[in-house]
Amino acid sequence: MNEEKIFVTQSSMPPYEEYVEAIKPLWSSRWLTNMGEYHKKLELELKKYLGVKELSLFVNGHMALELAIQMFDFPEGGEIITTPFTFISTTHAIVRNHLVPVFCDVKTKDGTIDETKIEELITEKTVAILPVHVYGNICNIEEIQKIAIRHSLKVIYDAAHAFGEKYKNEGIGNYGDATIFSFHATKVYNTIEGGAVTFSNPEYYDKLYNLKNFGIRGEEQVVSVGANAKMNEFAAIMGLCNLKYVDIAIKERKKRDSVYRKLLENVNGIRLFIENPYIKKNYGFFPILVEDTYNLSRDKLYDLLKKNNYYTRKYFYPLTCDQVCFKNKYNTHDLSNAKKLASTVLILPLYENLQLNRLREITEIIKCSLDAL
Ligand SMILES: *Cc1c(COP(=O)(O)O)cnc(C)c1O
Repeated sequence: MNEEKIFVTQSSMPPYEEYVEAIKPLWSSRWLTNMGEYHKKLELELKKYLGVKELSLFVNGHMALELAIQMFDFPEGGEIITTPFTFISTTHAIVRNHLVPVFCDVKTKDGTIDETKIEELITEKTVAILPVHVYGNICNIEEIQKIAIRHSLKVIYDAAHAFGEKYKNEGIGNYGDATIFSFHATKVYNTIEGGAVTFSNPEYYDKLYNLKNFGIRGEEQVVSVGANAKMNEFAAIMGLCNLKYVDIAIKERKKRDSVYRKLLENVNGIRLFIENPYIKKNYGFFPILVEDTYNLSRDKLYDLLKKNNYYTRKYFYPLTCDQVCFKNKYNTHDLSNAKKLASTVLILPLYENLQLNRLREITEIIKCSLDAL
């Protein structure tokens, strides 16, 4: 029995001495936040890394999303077509902007929004589409763009799971009107807490700047109503340090992803999402689908792994539309694929220094429990 508790992820951190050395200058400059030197430097570095023209840093991914939506000044009560198969932040960001989420079903092959079902949800109130590249699986960008153009809608991507990913060799932050990333401690790349919005229209930079810094444009001048959502210097330095190691981390994750796939490939009752050859992935998650035909429910497997000190997660269950705060409040279109995924998905532990023998133990537990049926 495995004595050590293994969680679904472990935060990436640079060598201790390296971070301590990097934050030393702050003790003489005493400049800890307010778009300091390191904030600016990280914006530049991330633009290069993500291959995007424009980027604005935020205190976290949620505020990046909330303020990216706010930037478009949608009329109150406007509808945003989105997915319920996501982290609660996506739906909160819509509702906190006094807009209405319209939930669209997802595809069982990869969990992303079903682009063929978007158009039937469009009404005269629809203002935008907010898809999620869930688990780093990239949405059908081309089709979504066509729909948006046809109906003059904005597209805002939640790419919280898709840091550094490329689609057809293009940085994922280049699609849609705006894309948000999360640099939370549990994501593939972290700044402890942090986030960013990427976009191609250079006018958005000032809009986002005002929204994240009280609309302050001079010592005695406030030009617009804004929140406080800027990234501080300690976080920016963590980001600069972690950025040096993120490629290694992704490589190590990829290795583990392949091992899992090999170990699980012929296991009846366990299904994996399909691989899209056009995507350069970051391997942030390893989701499996526990097909109920084999009578081993996802919940039973979750409990069994937990008993063995493997703490998997049911991301994303329940669907955001089924959470107490939203239940029975919004549309009731068919969400059968999303419901099916939510009740069968399980995220297995995956991070860059997870020992390979752990993968074998986890998959053995899964296989034994299936054989026992
Ligand atoms: C993590 C996450 C967010 C929010 O990011 P934070 O940095 O934690 O605020 C938004 N959307 C999705 C899909 C996420 O997984």
